[in-house]
Amino acid sequence: MTHHDIFDSLTRNAFDFLERGIAEFDKSPKYSVIHFCAAVEMLLKARLMKEHWSLIVSKPDQANLTKFMAGDFISVTLEDCRARIRDVAGEDIGDDAYNSFRALANHRNKMVHFFHQGLDSDEKAKAQIVAEHCRSWFHLHRLLNRWGGYFHDFGSEIAHADRAMKGHRKYLAAKFKALKPELDAARKAGSAPKACSACGFKAAIPDALDDQIASLRCLVCDHTETQVELECPHCGESVVLANEGYATCDHCGGSIEPEHLVDVLTKDVVGTKDYFETGLPANCGTCEGYHTVVERDDMYFCANCFELSDHVEQCEWCNELNTGDMEHSYSVGCSHCDGKVGWEKDDD
Ligand SMILES: [Zn+2]
Ligand SMILES: [Zn+2]
Ligand SMILES: [Zn+2]
Ligand SMILES: [Zn+2]
Repeated sequence: MTHHDIFDSLTRNAFDFLERGIAEFDKSPKYSVIHFCAAVEMLLKARLMKEHWSLIVSKPDQANLTKFMAGDFISVTLEDCRARIRDVAGEDIGDDAYNSFRALANHRNKMVHFFHQGLDSDEKAKAQIVAEHCRSWFHLHRLLNRWGGYFHDFGSEIAHADRAMKGHRKYLAAKFKALKPELDAARKAGSAPKACSACGFKAAIPDALDDQIASLRCLVCDHTETQVELECPHCGESVVLANEGYATCDHCGGSIEPEHLVDVLTKDVVGTKDYFETGLPANCGTCEGYHTVVERDDMYFCANCFELSDHVEQCEWCNELNTGDMEHSYSVGCSHCDGKVGWEKDDD
């Protein structure tokens, strides 16, 4: 078996577990929780494996290929998996995604260790499981798209899982119905519920920052997201982006990237030239985006990771504007320079 074969078999297995996790929900919610969670963890490990196989072993410095191939190893935890993807591949999966995977894993642990009497007929507990699945799939699906280069052989599996997840949402219909009075009240109060990107129900209550950016919380599945509404730069139709600056236009199939958002979101603020003279767009301390942070009213918004910050600060070493803490930037730098320490190192 080559490394490619191991990746392939791990990924194929993950999609098999995912499909199982969705399909067996009706008959056996307990195994659905276990299989769905395993699938999520396997796909994150598959991504890590693209860096090096030993990274999915809990102690990579003691990794042994023969033992690995024999399945004789302790595998990386979810927490370490995130840290390694960040430290080795330079990609953070984000707090929202991590927290949704964490919730899934905690639920799985509970299911494995404690017998849940009468789960099969406990509609409330079942709705909670499906809500967790929806939130996790929302994040996982986007990570898989972002990592499309590694998962390009699995396009049909991803599309198939997405279709299955859309069917899975029907278990939330009763909850949606029960929320009608609350949703009506929100509508009357001027916050008309929008479609939730995770569960699909029109139950996400917007809290508008301005006429283009809103943060939403879904009453059905508890998913939170930030949405930006803009005209597609390719076809001019209206598109909604959720939680990140990458999307494919539903109307023309054109790809939308953070640079487009920076353009759109700065145009109506001030003359573009003046805007750049202010040092904006700034860099993002959260996602390390370069010139992705724009000013909106008195907030700063990252067009890549959709994080809102209340201020930007100059890096004391390179003078670029950044969100996040710049206190020690003179010596350690910002997301785009290595500060004095890095500069002296280069001198050697
Ligand atoms: Zn939802
Ligand atoms: Zn378009
Ligand atoms: Zn960012
Ligand atoms: Zn700097």
